[in-house]
Amino acid sequence: MADILVIGSLNTDLVVRAPRFPKPGETISGEDLQIIPGGKGANQAVAAARQGASVLMVRRVGKDSFGPFLLNSLKSDRVDTSHVIADESATGTATIIVDSNGQNSIVLSAGANGKVSIQDIDRLKVDAKLLLLQLEIPLESVVHAAQWAKERGMTVVLNPAPARELPDELISAVDFLVPNETELNLLSGVPATDMPSAEQAARILLKRGAKHVIVTLGEKGALIVSPGQVQQIEAYRVNVVDTTAAGDAFIGGFAAKLLESDSLLSVQERALALQNAVHYGNACGALAVTKFGAQPSLPTKEEVENLI
Ligand code: ADP
Repeated sequence: MADILVIGSLNTDLVVRAPRFPKPGETISGEDLQIIPGGKGANQAVAAARQGASVLMVRRVGKDSFGPFLLNSLKSDRVDTSHVIADESATGTATIIVDSNGQNSIVLSAGANGKVSIQDIDRLKVDAKLLLLQLEIPLESVVHAAQWAKERGMTVVLNPAPARELPDELISAVDFLVPNETELNLLSGVPATDMPSAEQAARILLKRGAKHVIVTLGEKGALIVSPGQVQQIEAYRVNVVDTTAAGDAFIGGFAAKLLESDSLLSVQERALALQNAVHYGNACGALAVTKFGAQPSLPTKEEVENLI
């Protein structure tokens, strides 16, 4: 049995730096193209694998040359890719232009990610302790995957990114809902600007069926809101270089650490284990902001243990 199953997206990020954004119809010169493996599903799979969890990823890749590129990248991080589904459409890509101010402009092309279906999930013959989901595959497939995992006794962790509204049937199938502030605002309809308003917004999601809400708060760390536990866990102080993938690093580390609480029975033990997992996620997120890029910035277990 795998520790963590990820059903999610895989993208190739095509990044070019340019002095400014081109106007419609204009051609300008940029720097050399960088081709970087990405996608929230793949990033979180790699983030958890680097913390020592055994990770299996289910997703679709196109038959273009980006498919094998992304597959090899996952394999090099020991993510099990035996459940890859080859698709006739293009592999998912994000075409990213970064201007001289560091602003970016992105065109996402879902490609094969948009084809992950309910049938793909029903055909799965895999078992895992925890299912990790994001929102870069069709919503109906995310809902089905969460319910499918619940029926099999898996812990369900959902990172509701990119931000969008969600049906209660999904929220109520989730054990740990892990939004950032923007996602929390959109999901709850409450503008969360400080700790009391973030708690209030998270409580709305508990009422809608989530078992626990963990709000990531950037340099303020994270807030745990459970029926019997509300607690802010402070972030680590680090030199910020690039915040890309901080959330992915947090979630991978959080999920990997959470598995250690599987056998705990008492409420107190479980509450402490949840604190530890969030603290561990904070360390992973902090290390990710000290380096450029998405997957290259995801820390190893050794780096996290040194920081802690
Ligand atoms: P996202 O990348 O999804 O917007 P956040 O910005 O909330 O998510 O970051 C996720 C986690 O990464 C935070 O909960 C925190 O632990 C860590 N983190 C992010 N930014 C910083 C920072 N400036 N300093 C320390 N830790 C950070």
